[in-house]
Amino acid sequence: MKLPITGGCCCGAVRYEISAEPLGGINCHCRTCQKSVGAPYLAVMFVPATALAITGKYKEYATLAASGNTLYRGFCPECGSSLFARNSVFTEVRPIAAATLDDPGIFKPEKDIWVSDAQPWDYMDPNLPKFAGNFSNH
Ligand SMILES: [Zn+2]
Ligand SMILES: [Zn+2]
Repeated sequence: MKLPITGGCCCGAVRYEISAEPLGGINCHCRTCQKSVGAPYLAVMFVPATALAITGKYKEYATLAASGNTLYRGFCPECGSSLFARNSVFTEVRPIAAATLDDPGIFKPEKDIWVSDAQPWDYMDPNLPKFAGNFSNH
């Protein structure tokens, strides 16, 4: 994969660079992700926290994960794009909103999680493993 991986928000005020290979990817269909991004699911690419460099002013909105951890969802205060998140406990990994990549085609989702919350009009790739809730006990 060509590095760095770059991305940013709708208006360009917030940009980011990832200087390492992604650690994996999931599609999260939970209600909080649905609300947060205004879409049936959030495509998440996980990257090492040390490899993520962010430029521009962004805001964070704290949401409570099913694990009890806090998930700080980063977004552009100008255009509202959901960009990345930060888990209060799993600090070594950063979730990136894959649709905000400059080349979103590099994203490879490996599983669908929280499919119990998915909408009937949310069609999923039948080849991906499905999990009713989280894929781990986090
Ligand atoms: Zn923006
Ligand atoms: Zn979610």
